[in-house]
Amino acid sequence: MPWRRRIETKMAEVKILIEGYAREEGNSLFASSTTILIKDNNLNILVDPGANESRLLESLGKNNLKPKDIDIVFLTHYHLDHILNIRLFPGKEIYDGSTIYSGDKEIGYSGNIPNTNIKIIPTPGHADEHCSLLVETEKGKIVIASDVFWWKDNEEQKKDEENLIDHDDEYANNKEELIKSRKKLLKIADYIIPGHGKMFEVKK
Ligand SMILES: [Zn+2]
Ligand SMILES: [Zn+2]
Repeated sequence: MPWRRRIETKMAEVKILIEGYAREEGNSLFASSTTILIKDNNLNILVDPGANESRLLESLGKNNLKPKDIDIVFLTHYHLDHILNIRLFPGKEIYDGSTIYSGDKEIGYSGNIPNTNIKIIPTPGHADEHCSLLVETEKGKIVIASDVFWWKDNEEQKKDEENLIDHDDEYANNKEELIKSRKKLLKIADYIIPGHGKMFEVKK
């Protein structure tokens, strides 16, 4: 009898490495994004490496990873509190919601992160290029929403639909688009991971 190879269809895993924060102290703002590790199809995908270098290296270490073990660095949008740590990943491919950057070479793509089941969802409003990720896991549909939803450390995270949709975002560059993006994500997600703040369950 010929060998029949079993096809592994292991679901993706999502792990929050660092919970994003944003706090004012005197004239300064201390902010770094939520940083997430997705394991899918044997790839280590790091979403929004953030701006806190020591915490990122520490949390990778706790997961027995070094920067060289990351296969893909994915950026949801171009705010530096989400991006600054790309300098820890020299030579790695950087993905945004539409393009793969490999040095000076740019390759367009759409739909899924290639070779994964991770879906790209355009979510403009906070920033034009903003996109979110939908990951099907054993726990349910997890949406990495980044700054479609975010809170300062001293703000209460009110999780009823009205407050989630209307919550003020002082950095949004198009509030109408932002509201559309929020509604879109609330419809599809079982859980939402915000750009700064705690993961929450979406009550249906
Ligand atoms: Zn942010
Ligand atoms: Zn932002």
